Amino acid sequence: MNQRVLAERARRAIPGGVNSGQRNVPGLSDLVIAHAEGARFRDADGKEYLDFHAAFGPPLLGHNDPDVNAAVAEAGNGADLCGVGVTEGEVELAETLAELVPSVERVLLTSTGSEATFHALRVARAATGRRLVVKFQGCYHGWHDSVSLNVISSAEKVGGRDPISTGILPEVLEATLVLPFNSSQAVRQAFADHGADIAAVIVEPVPHNVGCLLPEQEFLRTLREECTKAGSVLVFDEVITGFRHHLGGWQAISGVTPDLTTMGKAIANGYPVGALGGRADLMDLFSSRPGGPAFFAGTYNGHPAVVAAALATLRKLRAEPVHAHVFALGERIRSGLTEVFDSLGIPALVTGYGSVFVGYFMTGPARTYDDLLRNDANMFIGYRRRLLDHGIFELPLNLKRSHVSYAHTDADVDRLLEAAAVAARQAGGE
Ligand code: PMP
Repeated sequence: MNQRVLAERARRAIPGGVNSGQRNVPGLSDLVIAHAEGARFRDADGKEYLDFHAAFGPPLLGHNDPDVNAAVAEAGNGADLCGVGVTEGEVELAETLAELVPSVERVLLTSTGSEATFHALRVARAATGRRLVVKFQGCYHGWHDSVSLNVISSAEKVGGRDPISTGILPEVLEATLVLPFNSSQAVRQAFADHGADIAAVIVEPVPHNVGCLLPEQEFLRTLREECTKAGSVLVFDEVITGFRHHLGGWQAISGVTPDLTTMGKAIANGYPVGALGGRADLMDLFSSRPGGPAFFAGTYNGHPAVVAAALATLRKLRAEPVHAHVFALGERIRSGLTEVFDSLGIPALVTGYGSVFVGYFMTGPARTYDDLLRNDANMFIGYRRRLLDHGIFELPLNLKRSHVSYAHTDADVDRLLEAAAVAARQAGGE
C-alpha cells in the first residue's frame, strides 16, 4: 500500500502516527518503513536511503544482521518465555557483561534503557536513603520522571528545570539538580551545598543526545571523587557509549569506574534489551520479592530471543574487526566533512567519537551544552533535509548525532561526502 495512505491510517490509529516521541519528523510525516538491510532502509514507496541515523544507535553491525537473526531464529527451538527460573543464555549474558564492563559485578536485564536508568536511581535511593539526583544539561536517560528534564533546552531554560513532558509531579522535578556538563566546579559546589542529600549522579559519559560533547578526564574524575567522598552512587549511562565505543564502555576508555552502569542499544543490535550492572553490594539490594530492599521486575526481562540476539552480537563484536572498521569510517567522515565545509567557507565543527559523528554549524569549542546554543539550527536541519534528496538519511532534527555501522563501506562514505558538498551549498544559500 502506498505510504501516504498508510501514514494517514497511522495518524488515525496511533497518536501522532508513530510509536516513539522523535520518530515523527517535520517534513517526513508520511514516512513508512518497509525494509532494512545492512546500511540501508527502504520506504513503502520503494525509495532507498543510505542510513546514518541507525535507529538512534542500536544496529552497530548493520540492519538485520544475518548472524544475529540466525541466533534469534535458533532460539525459537528452545524455551520461549516461561517466567520462572533462569535460562542458560541469561547466565551466559550476565557473565559476559561482567567480564567486559569494569564496574559490573552483577547484572540485571531489562527490555529498555529507560528501565535500566529508572532502577539505577531507585537502588541508589534505596541504598543511601537520600532524595536528590544530579543530572547534566543535555543528557537523556529515558522517559521516566526523575530524568525527564533539561535535554535540549532553549537558552532561557538552561539551568532551570525544563521538563520534557507535563504530568510530572513538581516535587519529583525539584529532587533533580541540573548541572552543566564538563564543569568540575559546578559539581564540587553542588556537593558542598547538598552532598548529604545526593543519592546519585547520573551522566552520559559522552552526552550523545545532543550530538557529542567529549568529556574532560578531570571532570569524570571529579564526579568519581565527589561521589566517593559523599557516599553518593555514580551512575554511568552507557546506553549509547557501551559496546559502540568500546566493549567495556567509556569507563574502559577513561579508566573512571562508576558504581552502576546502564546499558542498552548496541548490546543486541536492535533487539530490545537493556541492562543495569554494577557493584555487588548495590545490585544485591534488588530482591526478587515485593518489599525487598529494592524491587526489580519485568515480564519480558531476559526473553530468550533477545538474549540470543545479545550473545550473537557480542560474539561478533569480539570476533570480527567491527570497531576498527567503524572507527576508520567515522574518522574519514569527520575529516572529510570538515574539508567540505571549510572549502565552502561554512563555519562548522565536525566532531564525534569512533562510529559517531555530528557536524554542528558553529565555531568551536563544544565543551558544554551552552556552547551548542551557537549552532545554527536552521542550517543543521536544512542541510540534512537536502541530504534526503540524495537518498542519504541523517535525522533532520537539531543536534542529533549520526552513526556508521559495520555494514557501511568506503563507497558509502564517498557518497556521503559528495552529497554533503551539494547539500551544504544549497542549505547555506537558503
Ligand atoms: N540513556 C541514553 C543515554 C539514551 O540515549 C537512551 C535512549 N536514547 C536511553 C537511556 C533510554 O533508552 P530506551 O529508549 O531504550 O528506553
